[in-house]
Amino acid sequence: MQYHEQNPLETISLQTSENMSSSAVVNGSSTSSSCSSNSVSSVQSSVMFATPTTPATPCDPATATSKTTAPMRLLERQDPELLGWADMPQHLQFNPYVLTGYRPLQTVRGCMYSLFYWHNETINILTHGIPIVYILAIVPAMMPWENDFRFLSWCHIIGAVAPWIGSFVYHLFMNLEKGECIYYKLLQLDMLGIWISQSFGALPMVTATVFCLGWKLKWSVILAYCMLSLWGLYKAMTAFSPWQRRLCFLLPFTMRVLLTMLRMLRLAGGNPAALTHVFLQDAVSVLGGMIGALHIPEKWFPGSVDLYLNSHNIMHVLVVLAVYSMHQATVSDLDWMSRTKCSDNGTDASISPLLSESSHMDL
Ligand SMILES: [Zn+2]
Repeated sequence: MQYHEQNPLETISLQTSENMSSSAVVNGSSTSSSCSSNSVSSVQSSVMFATPTTPATPCDPATATSKTTAPMRLLERQDPELLGWADMPQHLQFNPYVLTGYRPLQTVRGCMYSLFYWHNETINILTHGIPIVYILAIVPAMMPWENDFRFLSWCHIIGAVAPWIGSFVYHLFMNLEKGECIYYKLLQLDMLGIWISQSFGALPMVTATVFCLGWKLKWSVILAYCMLSLWGLYKAMTAFSPWQRRLCFLLPFTMRVLLTMLRMLRLAGGNPAALTHVFLQDAVSVLGGMIGALHIPEKWFPGSVDLYLNSHNIMHVLVVLAVYSMHQATVSDLDWMSRTKCSDNGTDASISPLLSESSHMDL
């Protein structure tokens, strides 16, 4: 789980002007951004705790045209001068303890070119960009693609890669010159990636846990998890504060905790050898979320960990580790399901001796 937040205290303290237009340097030129209350979603308008009065919106194609001139575009191929926290538009001032290393507002090309020089989003981009390549190159070959497990294999691949795609795009393009409307749409994309991981990605674990239950109870639990996930999606897309974004996954998370407890008590299915990773996949991501929310350690040393080792960098690494645990648990559970023959009358499961040797899914 990961979070990108607007600091509410900073938002409130800076929300003194009626007009929320913000200006910032765009590769040496100046541009302005503002959101119309008619066009922005409830997420963006409510996150900012106020309704802007400027009628124009950067999400409107008529007003979102780049003001960057041709000579300025050429300059994008050079490393731009990095800015300080106070130089940034309000929607990018989400961490008041990271003081330097900010990219100026840029075009799409400028954002993409920022992959090749160091700034305060470089670690965030790399830590979630590299797993996309690794997962797509390595994980599909580990999956059992037989008919019985094809759907769950797809769920795992999509659930393992989606959060990195959303996060990579969000961090790379968060400073787009098009303004805060686009910024909050990118934030929603990031939340959608997390939701896919929490819903589709968790289905193999949920299915393994109820694998040997009667079909009514089995499908009731799976359906309940799907419904809670859909509720979480609605909350994620309509959240209006950082804490609402954190809590929108609470119900499916709570259900996973209950299922994990049943597994620990041996009252449910799933590979016993996967229990450590089943526990770690949520525990590590919660730890990462707490570190990100508390702005540790930069709140103790403002400005000293701007480029690396700040809370968001640490959170990114921890959620990668959490998804690694999800991957290990899923592979182990799929292997267990492929080898398990459930008894006719209950939750008792036995391993078929003919299938007791794991084959293609060994790591
Ligand atoms: Zn992030």
